[in-house]
Amino acid sequence: MTFVEPFPDELLSSWLTRMRPNRNAMNEPSLRASRNSAGHWRHPDVHPTKSMITELASNTGIAPTQIAKLGLCYRYPRINPDFVAWRYVPSDYLGRDCEPALSLRITWCSRCLAEDYAGGRAAYVRADWAMAAGGFCSRHNWPLVDRCVTCGSVDWAMKRSPQGPPRMCCARCRRGLERANPGALELEPAAHSLWKMIAGFEAALRDALTGKVPDQFRFNDTSASQLLDETSTICLLLARARRRAGLRDELFDRFATPALTLEDGCPDEPSCEMPLALASPSLRRCLIAICAAMLDADYGATGLCQGKLVVDIWSRTIGSMALKHFIQDRLTCSSTLKRKLEAALHRNEQFERMSYLRDASHTYETLFQDSA
Ligand SMILES: [Zn+2]
Ligand SMILES: [Zn+2]
Repeated sequence: MTFVEPFPDELLSSWLTRMRPNRNAMNEPSLRASRNSAGHWRHPDVHPTKSMITELASNTGIAPTQIAKLGLCYRYPRINPDFVAWRYVPSDYLGRDCEPALSLRITWCSRCLAEDYAGGRAAYVRADWAMAAGGFCSRHNWPLVDRCVTCGSVDWAMKRSPQGPPRMCCARCRRGLERANPGALELEPAAHSLWKMIAGFEAALRDALTGKVPDQFRFNDTSASQLLDETSTICLLLARARRRAGLRDELFDRFATPALTLEDGCPDEPSCEMPLALASPSLRRCLIAICAAMLDADYGATGLCQGKLVVDIWSRTIGSMALKHFIQDRLTCSSTLKRKLEAALHRNEQFERMSYLRDASHTYETLFQDSA
């Protein structure tokens, strides 16, 4: 009996789905998330168990190391739940068994699917399509989507056909998902350099998730874990800054342009618990672009940073208390980001003093005019 070989960049569940015609020949392990003995949720695509890998290896004859690489925790040893794209994350509280189970938010690149189709290859889900640290395809610098461009449905399935290899199709209108987003096609000529820059920042995040030291020309004096923690913290503090909604909207308005959202509407409100991990692809692109503008020296080199500095608006949005706390956290905040944030704090204090003086002088002038 021959089994389907996994593609090196494939997600575990995608490979298992492709093997389904052979299901009778083996006991297919469960693809659903479940709680481990400590009560924590575990998803087989993120944390496949050793016994599952061994069982699959003995059933298929494929090397355990090759199978392990299809699980995100083996591909990215530093992965944590903030960098996985979730559709739903239940609490770890054991009493709530009626909740839906932990589930991944899979996005896809229509160009990768189009290449599969043109090459007569079976369509498959790339492991990176389940990552929250990715709004763009690293191969095509092309925006990832999570819904059908024809009918807007988020449900899809791998459709087999007697004429050719399996295709990834919309479950509602049944069209192939390799069709490109017409909005993205129209935007591409103008947005391409921005997409490429953000895809480059996402590649740096993925490298950091493998434990690789970031390029010190771009992320000076920053370790892999600092780059990851800084990214998570920038998103989290921004999502929680609800008291300064006006300033936060100013920042989002700047990034929520069609080039990043691909649609006219504003992206959804970020989650206060896991802003990046639970974000839609458009919100994810906006959040990652904000982080890139603050952390990546390449962002400045692209000439995309006109107007007020992003780090200044972000610092004012989260407030000086949260900012000082972040600066003091030497494990998370690198010395480079510390310097940038201190400079932003200084500029913002100067700005506030100036506007206070302007207001005071205006009040004085009106008072003088009134008495005259
Ligand atoms: Zn692609
Ligand atoms: Zn559809």
